[in-house]
Amino acid sequence: MTSRRGGDAIARETTRRARGTVFVISAPSGAGKTTLCKRLLQELQGIDFSVSFTTRAPREGEREGVDYCFIDREEFERRRRKGEFVEWALVDGQMYGTSGAAVKEATARGHDILLDIDTQGAENIRRLIHDAVLVFVMPPSREALRERLTHRATDTPETVARRLSLARGEVEKSPLYDYVVINDELDVAYDQLRAIVVAARCRRERLMGRIKEIAASFGVGRGPGREG
Ligand code: ADP
Ligand code: 5GP
Repeated sequence: MTSRRGGDAIARETTRRARGTVFVISAPSGAGKTTLCKRLLQELQGIDFSVSFTTRAPREGEREGVDYCFIDREEFERRRRKGEFVEWALVDGQMYGTSGAAVKEATARGHDILLDIDTQGAENIRRLIHDAVLVFVMPPSREALRERLTHRATDTPETVARRLSLARGEVEKSPLYDYVVINDELDVAYDQLRAIVVAARCRRERLMGRIKEIAASFGVGRGPGREG
């Protein structure tokens, strides 16, 4: 069995000195995205959560600056006009935006950054950040999604019905994504999500700095090879 600690050592090693990767994760509401993201952020090092700005009111238990930065429409407009958002969208009547500065700062430090954003946001990030990795979390069926939304018990039956009808449009957008994680068994889905992040950290382009150093220690790039 591979230990978590061992996995994290690999994660740290592979992120040293390289620019971090932008991960986008989207899902129909209730598919389990929050559950999966929280676990990933707890268990993997070197990955930050992008705290979005939103005009919607905080839900019970949500913390300012941790789950979202809660601002009013006027403030949102002011920030949008100043170009502070790398992407923004109107979702279910409320504005949501991703801070461009936070994405830049994290990736420049060699940290990955996880953007929990909707399919409109994912489309925009795909155009703007070509090496972003897009992951779609899919429920195993519409019925399973309905059950999860009902059991979560944070929403009224009307909200559950609205979310179910919105889910269709979101599932339709899944071809835009690089990876799809079907969240049937939570542990299996989590391992898949984690594997996607670790694999992205092993991409050759991302490791160019280290590869050059290692190659140089073999004399690669210094003319014809000599054994010794
Ligand atoms: P989202 O962030 O996508 O809206 P949540 O993470 O809040 O979804 O999950 C919705 C509900 O489904 C929660 O009650 C959560 O505990 C439950 N859930 C998440 N993943 C699974 C799973 N694989 N099997 C059963 N229930 C799950
Ligand atoms: P909720 O209000 O339930 O937290 O989020 C509603 C939807 O908005 C979810 O699909 C979530 O991923 C998305 N969302 C959250 N932050 C952002 C953001 O900054 N940009 C975009 N485009 N969508 C966001």
